[in-house]
Amino acid sequence: MSNINKLIEQRVAALFGRIGECPIEVPKVPFSYNLCFNIRGLKAGVCKVRRNPIDSSYIITIGFNAKALAVDDGRFALNEIVPHEVAHALASMVHLDLTRPRWVRIGCKGHGPGWKRIAQWLGATGKTTCSIGLQPSRNTRPYLYIASCGTEARLTKGQHQKVAAGLRFTVKKTGGKISKEGLISVAA
Ligand SMILES: [Zn+2]
Repeated sequence: MSNINKLIEQRVAALFGRIGECPIEVPKVPFSYNLCFNIRGLKAGVCKVRRNPIDSSYIITIGFNAKALAVDDGRFALNEIVPHEVAHALASMVHLDLTRPRWVRIGCKGHGPGWKRIAQWLGATGKTTCSIGLQPSRNTRPYLYIASCGTEARLTKGQHQKVAAGLRFTVKKTGGKISKEGLISVAA
């Protein structure tokens, strides 16, 4: 693992460590997260949060664009992309908490005011446009999924359409399943 990835991991862990002081109270339920570092396309980062159907814990996946990580020797990633995406994780946990008032939940959706408040508290600017000029990549497998075993898998458009229609693929090595809930990013 490259040095910047290690620094990103540490920063993500540090920000999740502050979850108890979040200005918008995050539900105190178990969560786990995994990081991937090879998102392609125009997005600098992505964050996806879903609930484990078995124990209702939160499963968070944060992806980073390798090109974005290299910008300004990684400073932009550490100081902007990481807090931006961790804010999505915390805000989504609030958004998915059905016991919270509707206005709170809606504010935490996407780049809403709830997200922005958390993002700024974590040290991001709260801006939503990414100004680092990433170029679209030509990519025949633009659909990045996380399988149930944690493996990253890139699917073609045809495979993606099958998964979207409910078909599940199996990762040969691990037996993990790729289902439509596992989609984490689409390269532009
Ligand atoms: Zn965002």
